[in-house]
Amino acid sequence: MVKQYDAIVIGGGPGGLTCAALLARWGMKPLLLEKNDTAGGKAVGAERDGFRYELAPKLQVPMRGPAFATVFRLLGIESELKPIYLEKACLAYRSSGWKKYKTTITHQTEAGTDPNEFFELFGLNAQEKEHALAILTEIATMPPEKLDALDDMTFQEYISQHDTPHGLYSYLAMHSNASLAEPIDMVSASEQVRILQHIALSGGGGYYVGGFGRVLDTLAEAVKANGGEIKTRTRVEKINVREGQVTGVATSDGEFKARIVISNAGIQPTVLKLVGEKNFDKSYVNYVKDLVPGWAFTAVRYFLNKPVLKWPMYMMWSDDSWWNVERFLKAKQGQVPKEVILFGIVPSNFDPTMSPPGKQCFIAGTICIPDPEATGIVQELYKKMDEMLDKVFPEVMDAVMYKEFEGPAEISAATRDHVLPGQGGECVGLAQIVGQCGKHKPSPKSPIRGLFYVGCDAGGSGMGTHQAAESGINVARMVLQYHTKRRTVGSE
Ligand SMILES: Cc1cc2nc3c(=O)[nH]c(=O)nc-3n(C[C@H](O)[C@H](O)[C@H](O)COP(=O)(O)OP(=O)(O)OC[C@H]3O[C@@H](n4cnc5c(N)ncnc54)[C@H](O)[C@@H]3O)c2cc1C
Repeated sequence: MVKQYDAIVIGGGPGGLTCAALLARWGMKPLLLEKNDTAGGKAVGAERDGFRYELAPKLQVPMRGPAFATVFRLLGIESELKPIYLEKACLAYRSSGWKKYKTTITHQTEAGTDPNEFFELFGLNAQEKEHALAILTEIATMPPEKLDALDDMTFQEYISQHDTPHGLYSYLAMHSNASLAEPIDMVSASEQVRILQHIALSGGGGYYVGGFGRVLDTLAEAVKANGGEIKTRTRVEKINVREGQVTGVATSDGEFKARIVISNAGIQPTVLKLVGEKNFDKSYVNYVKDLVPGWAFTAVRYFLNKPVLKWPMYMMWSDDSWWNVERFLKAKQGQVPKEVILFGIVPSNFDPTMSPPGKQCFIAGTICIPDPEATGIVQELYKKMDEMLDKVFPEVMDAVMYKEFEGPAEISAATRDHVLPGQGGECVGLAQIVGQCGKHKPSPKSPIRGLFYVGCDAGGSGMGTHQAAESGINVARMVLQYHTKRRTVGSE
């Protein structure tokens, strides 16, 4: 007999896990179906030879009050979330006129109130420092209504209203790549300002004891502890719909029934593949097809035979290495810039148990195109990442025992299906660009009764995992209301 659930959640990324855990906690009977061996999505943890790590560099923004803290509190397990605050980070920058990279160690806890370490690194003079301080102060103190008004403006348009010193512009362009995997000339100013506010006011770049993998494992345990079910290695192949209402799913392991299905598989794969175009109005299908996928962040994991890096976080960029639209289009044609930005973390410099004694793992990433088939460009980027490290931190390359890679093809295979040309390996989800953020963000409620989306495509805001978990909370509330209303008055 086909088993009936209150709700089926497709996918166990941070968004799907959060939503399923809360629905279970609030008395519903959810079933979470995950195609991989373990839940965790793009933030899943892994192990090898005594190393524990995420597949790509992962840090939490905001660090005080992230959505994970809210979820753990709502689940009554707040003491199980064990944040580690980032105190110091190493930054390396080269302005186009300079021959060499200049490095500095920033004190993250103080950077929100005193950005002088940054200004020195950018090489700003006294007047430029004043201008830079004015912009950063405006960003940090912007009230919510003014922030919302920036939905229709790119971050570049916002910045160009100010007298922005060159070094600060370069930093902000790199930041758009590193925090949202978007270019400064497309990213929504509201989304980028929100992230910078989070960093300035609540701290950025934190980690957790046991890594993000441990956080997500705890959420998976909470689903089960509250009466929900999880089935891994179960790929949803089809969402069943009858007369405009979801009825369940067909999977690699049989059929499951529910009047509510919440998909963490991405809006485009859900609509175009799992449900199928014929179940929607043409206008909605066109809307979904026209949504722009985000860019990718591709990663190399360097396993080192000795601890050579002192700090938990590293950020490296030059005026020539961040991508705007022009550089992206050139890279797409095979003209990859000479240098790449590099954002990297050392998990064992946050939590020493993440590496075997006397060893280190450095996980570094750079901006990339999301096309799972663009393997040539991705290989070129890996080469450039090695070259960058050799140039600025040669001790890393000298200590490499072996490397592992995580490009758009691997990200797509591990998370969202490739259903449109060039799409699949997105770092976050749909692009965080003007027209798709804030009031323009797609609704978590689909036109089909009982079908919802959760995760970075709908229902949240901010940086990656925070955005996904915030969506999980908001969508769980929406689904609970829908479920309650359906049971009490029989309407939808
Ligand atoms: C290289 C890289 C670096 C990043 N760095 C950071 C960072 O520093 N900080 C940060 O906060 N975020 C970072 N992120 C982003 C963050 O990991 C994502 O934003 C977040 O994981 C998205 O969560 P999600 O819930 O939307 O879905 P996902 O994590 O994409 O999870 C979706 C889940 O659904 C499952 N699924 C899909 N289709 C099916 C199906 N048909 N049947 C069953 N299961 C299915 C997948 O297997 C997957 O487990 C990074 C991402 C990448 C790739």
